[in-house]
Amino acid sequence: SPTDLDGRVAIVTGASSGIGEETAKALAEEGARVVLAARREERLAALADDIETAGGEALVVPTDVAEESEVRALVDGAVEEYGRLDVLVNNAGVMLNEPFLDSEVDHYETMVEVNLLGLMKATRFAVEAMRETDGDGHVVQLSSVAGRKSLPSHAAYNGTKFGVNGFTESLRQDTVGEGIRTTLVEPGVVDTELQEHIPDDEEREETEAMVEELDPLTPTDIAAAMTYAVTQPQHVSINEILVRPTEQE
Ligand code: NDP
Repeated sequence: SPTDLDGRVAIVTGASSGIGEETAKALAEEGARVVLAARREERLAALADDIETAGGEALVVPTDVAEESEVRALVDGAVEEYGRLDVLVNNAGVMLNEPFLDSEVDHYETMVEVNLLGLMKATRFAVEAMRETDGDGHVVQLSSVAGRKSLPSHAAYNGTKFGVNGFTESLRQDTVGEGIRTTLVEPGVVDTELQEHIPDDEEREETEAMVEELDPLTPTDIAAAMTYAVTQPQHVSINEILVRPTEQE
């Protein structure tokens, strides 16, 4: 039977919009105390209010996952407040697509710093905290179809998401036998703010048109996949969930 999350503590990065916001709500509905991390503090505060109004518990920790000290403070803050850490959802991410050879160094550095290095740091600190408290724990990584399949103008984004997949499978093997579970969630097109940040006008417009045409996934669809993974009994480890809109190629 599925395990409920009563009394469990879950950090969700990138909780200020899209998939992260819906995931935080869904985990809180399952009984988890949720720690909300992102840069936009007002958005996190509004989400914490919604969660508390619905009877849940939430802690806001403004965090830039590209800053190691802030990632450290996020994990420490969760453990200080609640005394344990059970789930980390590494969801913060950016997709700044453009043809690689015309791209700005800043853009691909940011993707690596947030999508890959930020995720690695959060994973490291969180697993250390899980080991020090209960011993069990669950790390959920937001990868993507782009972690399995390359597309033009996605070079750096593809690099980060393929990196997330390779990193996470190795982590699974490093921690096997100690109660740490890992899940890769690999969505296709989801209607969120992600596309709005694409710097290349042509690329952004094409992507936005594609999203409109598709009958895309919603953040709620992905939150449901994550809830499924983290409510399995301890002996069940859902390692990978690949989910596309039915109409996506
Ligand atoms: P959104 O743009 O709606 O959400 C991205 C979140 O990441 C925001 O909460 C943002 O918060 C946060 N974020 C960005 N940079 C940082 C940073 N430096 N530090 C902390 N938080 C940061 O997009 P999605 O919900 O779609 O994206 C969530 C994840 O899902 C990403 O990893 C994305 O790659 C992945 N994904 C999305 C797909 C899609 O089609 N939408 C498909 C496959 C995967 P803030 O700006 O407040 O810091």
